[in-house]
Amino acid sequence: MSTTSPGAKWHQQLHWRIAIAMMLGVIAGLIGGEPLADTVGWLGTLFIKLLKMIIVPLVVTSIVTGVASVGAGAGLGRLFGKTLGYYMLTSLFACIVGLAMVNIIRPGEGADLVGAETEEMPELTVIQSPVDLILDIVPENVFGAAAETKMLAIIFFAIMLGISISVLKQSHREPLLSFFQSAFEAMMVLTGGIINYVAPIGVFALIARLMGTTGLSAFKSLGLYALMLVCGLTVHLLVTLPLILRFLGGINPVKHFRNMVQPIVMAFSTSSSGATLPVTIDAVENKVGVSNRVTSFVLPMGATVNMDGTALYECAGVLFIAQAMGVSLGFEQQLMVVFTALLASIGAAAVPSAGLVVIFIVLQAVNLTGPQVELIVGAMLAVDRPLDMYRTVVNVFSDSCGAAIIAKSEGETGIDE
Ligand code: ASP
Repeated sequence: MSTTSPGAKWHQQLHWRIAIAMMLGVIAGLIGGEPLADTVGWLGTLFIKLLKMIIVPLVVTSIVTGVASVGAGAGLGRLFGKTLGYYMLTSLFACIVGLAMVNIIRPGEGADLVGAETEEMPELTVIQSPVDLILDIVPENVFGAAAETKMLAIIFFAIMLGISISVLKQSHREPLLSFFQSAFEAMMVLTGGIINYVAPIGVFALIARLMGTTGLSAFKSLGLYALMLVCGLTVHLLVTLPLILRFLGGINPVKHFRNMVQPIVMAFSTSSSGATLPVTIDAVENKVGVSNRVTSFVLPMGATVNMDGTALYECAGVLFIAQAMGVSLGFEQQLMVVFTALLASIGAAAVPSAGLVVIFIVLQAVNLTGPQVELIVGAMLAVDRPLDMYRTVVNVFSDSCGAAIIAKSEGETGIDE
């Protein structure tokens, strides 16, 4: 999904168009007030509905392609286990950092993002027991789960399907894999279309509605929200991952950073782990010194499945929304947020704004739904691009750390030396 072509003039670039739409929305909302908010509000709702429309097919095709393209063979089972273990570990740490930040900084408290009139508060989902949770994840009927957007169940099925396809013999695997790959490409085109053409209008409408109902105070809250996320991502990038590199892999983090400058810059400018992948593979093989055997396995799957920055963002974002709505999430519900954020980050495609699309999965898991939630997500979208650029850097850097650590554990020498 290309959101900006390389030679595009500044005003053709998506982030500028979104920024301009946002400014126009602020001005229009402040001048037009509630009457304007009521008139253009439906365009914002339309945009959110379009985003929700693509979630199920995008997540399914993204996961099946990512998991199935790994293939099967000697030693791959072990590599697969290590890779998944690393992905889960680092994403879990990222979630914990995100939760800590949002609980310490509390950017949503007192945030006036939902308008003066208090609508009915959503009733939060309460986890019955771990057993119920597991039973809930396994769908009785896959199509029923898709129709009800039961994302955990869908993600579970997609992972299982991906694994099953990966162990088929080649004559069966190839056609299925290419079907899912093509379907994924089509979904990327659709997502790109929505983000490119509808996002500016949607952002305009959402911001105009927000300003028309709450005025400028919303921006103060968004500034604190953005700051909280930047702090969280920085802690993960500069503290957690270097510590993991040092203690799990015995690798010098400073040298690793130096070797990864190019992919970091690329991730920052494209906001897409997918678009950065060729540069990541090149740097991890030629500069970090990891074998092709490991990079070809760990990095493509990592680009789709391992998204620490996105997982951190999902956790912190959902808790921010809950805080802004004055809803307090208990320990169990925060646990549910972590769990779903992990799965949502797996399901997020390696493209710009994917994290924002899948935040609805996490919101739904704790039953934070309704017009107020959509209003806040819309406001978050206005500041999403720079945050997306930074979380993509974290996503890509974590993949490269994984490749280096796994290569070392496989007995490879000369990593980052
Ligand atoms: N843009 C991110 C990536 O490609 C995903 C996200 O939106 O969080 O890694």
